[in-house]
Amino acid sequence: MAIKTKLNFWERLYFPEIFRGIAITSRHFFRNLSNPFKNPVTIRYPDQKRFIHPRWRGRHRLMERNDGSPRCVACMCCATVCPARCITIMPGEHPDPAIMKYPISFDIDMTRCIFCGYCVEACPVDAIRMDSGIVSVVDYSRDSLQFQKEVLLKTS
Ligand code: SF4
Ligand code: SF4
Repeated sequence: MAIKTKLNFWERLYFPEIFRGIAITSRHFFRNLSNPFKNPVTIRYPDQKRFIHPRWRGRHRLMERNDGSPRCVACMCCATVCPARCITIMPGEHPDPAIMKYPISFDIDMTRCIFCGYCVEACPVDAIRMDSGIVSVVDYSRDSLQFQKEVLLKTS
């Protein structure tokens, strides 16, 4: 659709456009007031929740192996690619030489995360996902938004 760049005389006066905007807003207001259940534009959150598409990027979760240990091999790809620098991993030597490394600690600072999903894309072993379906990441303190490995493993 072409974008209109030139304003005509009436549009340059602004007042007709302001009144037109008020008229549209008023029309929606009174229509919703007279019948709030027909095509409502609001929902009764949190009792009612909007449909979240399965591909929506929600809160992170760490995947587990069959024995319950983290699938993560502490390669640091996610921490390196993260533009917000909110992933901190302390790698340790894994007892199984086939795995080599595992995360002793794996922290995500959710106060800085921008939900870009780069960490998920960068992971070579599908150890981190954002498909938890949890989109509301809120709390009363910054400290409680520092998610450790144990929390991320429990998130489903
Ligand atoms: S979603 Fe983006 S900002 Fe958040 S932890 Fe992953 S890479 Fe970092
Ligand atoms: S990219 Fe995957 S395997 Fe590597 S440190 Fe991050 S979560 Fe672990």
